[in-house]
Parts: sequence; C-alpha cells; structure tokens
Amino acid sequence: MSAKVLISGAGIAGSTLAYWLGRYGFAVTVVERAASARTSGSPVDVRGAAVDVVTEMGVLPELRAGATHVERVTFVDGTGRRRATVRTSAFGEGEDEIEVARADLAGVLLAAAGDRAEIRWGDTITGLVQDVSGVRVTFEQAPPERFDCVVGADGLHSTVRRLIFGPERNFLRHRGIYIATLPVERLVGDDREVLVYNTPGRSVSVHPAGGRPLAAFMFRRGEIPGLDYRETAAHKRIIIGEFTHRTGIFADLLDQVRTGSDLYFDSVGQVRLPSWSNGRVALLGDAASCVSLFGNGSSSAIIGAHTLAEELARTPELPRAALSRYEYRHRAVTSGEQRGLRLAAALLVPGSRPAILLRDTAIRLLPSR
Ligand SMILES: Cc1cc2nc3c(=O)[nH]c(=O)nc-3n(C[C@H](O)[C@H](O)[C@H](O)COP(=O)(O)OP(=O)(O)OC[C@H]3O[C@@H](n4cnc5c(N)ncnc54)[C@H](O)[C@@H]3O)c2cc1C
Repeated sequence: MSAKVLISGAGIAGSTLAYWLGRYGFAVTVVERAASARTSGSPVDVRGAAVDVVTEMGVLPELRAGATHVERVTFVDGTGRRRATVRTSAFGEGEDEIEVARADLAGVLLAAAGDRAEIRWGDTITGLVQDVSGVRVTFEQAPPERFDCVVGADGLHSTVRRLIFGPERNFLRHRGIYIATLPVERLVGDDREVLVYNTPGRSVSVHPAGGRPLAAFMFRRGEIPGLDYRETAAHKRIIIGEFTHRTGIFADLLDQVRTGSDLYFDSVGQVRLPSWSNGRVALLGDAASCVSLFGNGSSSAIIGAHTLAEELARTPELPRAALSRYEYRHRAVTSGEQRGLRLAAALLVPGSRPAILLRDTAIRLLPSR
C-alpha cells in the first residue's frame, strides 16, 4: 500500500510537494484553510533551480504565458511625475527567470498536482499525535485520520509548526515592515512598468500582473500588538489609517481596499527554527524558513518541496531519516537568503524624505537605466 502523506497548505510549497509526491506514488491529501484559491499576492520570481523543477513538472510554458513581462520600476511623485526609473535587469533578474503573479503561480502548481492529490478546502489540522507507526491527525471539519507523514506547508503563521514546536513568537520575528496586496481594477502606467509612490516610511505601487493589476501598500512600523493576521476588517482599518493623504495619484486605491474581498496583509517576517522536523512531521516553505517579501520565498519553496519529495521517495518506509536528509540539503539553499532585506527596504520603502531623494538620485546616476 502507498505511504500516506498529509500536507497542510495548498500554497506554493504545498502544491509543488503534492505534485511530486503524487508522481512518486504516495497517497497525498492536502488540507487548505481557505475555502478556495486566493487571488492576491505580489508577483513573485521563479528562478534558479526552481525553473528546473517547474520545467520537469511540465508547467514552464504556462508560467511563461502568464508572466508579467515587467521591464521597469518607476518612482513617481504625488502628481504622477516620473522621478527615477530602474530596469528590472538591474536587480539581477536574468533571462531564465519568470516573474508571475503569486496567485497564478499557486494556481498552475495546484492544477499540476491535479488528480495526484485529494484537496480538502476550508479545513485545518487541530491536533497531531505521533506514535511509532504514524501520526493521528484531527481536523476542524473532517474526521480523525492516520498518516505516515505530515508536512506543514501552511505559511508564515503555520499551524503545524505551532502544534509541533510551540507558539510562533518563539520563531517569527517582525522585520519592521508590513505589506498588503490586492488585485485592482486599473493599471496606472503601461503593462511593462511598475509605478511606485513613496512618502517617508510608506510606499504604494501598482504592478502589472498577467492582465490583472495588483496594488501593494508597504509601511514601516514596529510590531502591531495583538494583530490577528486573519482579521481582514482590522487589516483594512490599519491600511486606511496608515495611507489616508499619503497615496498621491493612487488615492482611489483606498476605496478598493475598503471594498476588496481578497486582501493579503502580513508583516514582513523572518522565521528561524533550530530544526524543521520532529519525528514524522516536517515543515516546508515559509513555515520552516521564511524570507518573506524580499527574499526568494517562492523559488525556495518550490526547490524545498522537490527535495523533500525526492528524499521521501528514497526511503518511504523511513520518513524520519528522509526528513533529516531533506533538511540537511535544503538548509544549504536557504541560508543567507535574507541578506537583501535591508537594501530592498531602503529601495522600496525609504524611511525619510532625504532617503527618498537619495534613492531617486542614485537611480538616476545608474549607468544602465
Ligand atoms: C494569498 C497570499 C498572498 C500572498 N502575497 C504575498 C505578497 O504580496 N508578498 C509576499 O512577499 N508574500 C506573499 N505571500 C507569501 C508567499 O506566497 C510565500 O512567502 C512564498 O510563496 C512561500 O510559499 P509557501 O507555500 O511556503 O507559503 P504560502 O504561499 O503563504 O502558502 C501557505 C498556504 O497555507 C494555507 N494555510 C495557512 N494556514 C493554514 C492552516 N492552518 N491549515 C491549512 N492551510 C493553511 C494558506 O492559506 C496558503 O494557501 C502570500 C501568500 C498568500 C497565501
């Protein structure tokens, strides 16, 4: 009989893992808390070894077809006047990488997992009890069930991580910036250009994303006490409070924040854990090692999922050993990925007016504008 694996989270990491485990012959169940696929999320890059993984999955042409093809980031003032433009190639974006809306990437990966996995929407794990031969899992909705292995691919605020390793305050560190994204009705600028408007410590931007523009709001702020990352109404209040009178030409976007139904809001956070597995339960993607916003989160999640599936397939009867090998291999990939955070924050959300002017001047002096 095939080994049974439960994956918590049908995001980038969970969907990729479901595909590969299904392909290797595991019986795969995915439990996803959201009632259906989400539509928000800034465009993300699929690069490096992640391109090889999606190529092997056969989804590269689809991802290329949905790519954003963004070529420039332009910083504007409140009236829309262009202050400085930088080519995305200046950020080291190469020919072999694809920028695609997060929702499109998640959708393509999940569709690839297709009939290789059973997806249960609108449910979540509530308890995990391990013994020598498996894991007994309880759910909010479904009846309890046993699995040979459980993987927490449930993001920055992972439930599996909390159940196995304890509260997230022990592992998740706020890095001083919050981000909100949502799909919006109209593009400002052309379809090859991201427009960004800054006030000190804040940015509003509109990003072309495969025909459906996305707005992003970022602001510098210390940790908001008691913030519930699932309470959308509170998120809307926070964003509107932070941005009223600070949106320049993007003023109408605040109305879309008020009425929008799929707003993503979270802190830019960093997850650090001494271990990514405990017995037959492992963590993957942001749940294990988040490099949110400015890191390489999506590519890293894809690569990690592939590595984990490969290792489980090598010794399906010995999941503990497989999980250790996965961690050993994938830590080498993720180490040091947060280095760009400070630079990216200075570029996208300068903290003061002089810092905004300095950024614009520095960009104008770049030779390859
Ligand atoms: C809707 C959305 C929008 C995002 N937008 C951005 C963005 O604009 N900028 C940015 O930097 N990063 C964003 N992210 C995070 C980004 O996708 C990840 O950093 C990266 O892709 C790594 O992927 P992951 O699969 O580990 O985590 P994620 O892509 O976050 O996927 C985790 C999945 O687990 C699900 N989940 C969470 N808790 C549970 C639970 N208890 N039980 C079952 N399922 C659960 C989530 O709904 C989600 O589908 C977004 C994530 C989501 C879900």
